[in-house]
Amino acid sequence: MLEIKNLMVFYENAIAINNINIKCQGEKVTGIFGANSAGKSTLMYTISGIILDVKKKEEMKGGERITVLGNITFEGMDITFMKPSERAKKGIVLCPERRRIFAESSTLENLKIGGYLATKAQAKKTLEYVFTIFPALINLKRREGGFLSGGEQQMLAIGRALMAQPKMLLLDEPLLGLSPLMEAMLARAIRDINRQTGITTLISEQYARPILPIIHHGYILENGGAVLEGNSRELMENPDVKSAYFGL
Ligand code: ATP
Repeated sequence: MLEIKNLMVFYENAIAINNINIKCQGEKVTGIFGANSAGKSTLMYTISGIILDVKKKEEMKGGERITVLGNITFEGMDITFMKPSERAKKGIVLCPERRRIFAESSTLENLKIGGYLATKAQAKKTLEYVFTIFPALINLKRREGGFLSGGEQQMLAIGRALMAQPKMLLLDEPLLGLSPLMEAMLARAIRDINRQTGITTLISEQYARPILPIIHHGYILENGGAVLEGNSRELMENPDVKSAYFGL
């Protein structure tokens, strides 16, 4: 459903994404695993189109040159240079790294902001769904985003992304900085959302252990290049993956 071909992204002369080919099958969960600076966020920005906004801003202030080569197709359409807002309308929704919750807005307001593209009926239905999948948010409806814990903020960030009616959900390091208990809970929730809604999901993580079991297919990213790919079991049983990501 989403296909990335020969993608290269440069910041000035430094290469951040080096000739990547990735396929995200419809209704499945795809994982991207890599260490710090491997290129995970750049990839997410390039798929969601935010990189084009960053590029424009940099050009306006005479800053660094950002170059994107290759192509990305979504449902058969080339979206490589489509504006991020257009991509959002097509259903490509990014849940960014470090959550970016509106700190002064309440949980409910954050969710409603996420639903700006939804019809009233969709927003109502999705809001109910978000509280079903994350019941912990029910009693936090009126709490300001800035007063939520890291885990609660992440539930809210995923909930807010769901409110935007995604067909393709991009989750950039959703487990970052969370406790093992919260990691396990969120990994389960992400799996359940995919099973129950069929939303195609791409998830990037530095720490593969909690996520590897819930993916259908995954890629290992190193220095901007995809060095290995396989299904959940193949990656979990791969000796290099074991030593790099499981400390075995
Ligand atoms: P992290 O886990 O730290 O978020 P990441 O895998 O998401 O890492 P990216 O943030 O995509 O990696 O970075 C990929 C490479 O691009 C790194 O070498 C990084 O230093 C570089 N990079 C990222 N953003 C910029 C920028 N705005 N200008 C210049 N170089 C950048």
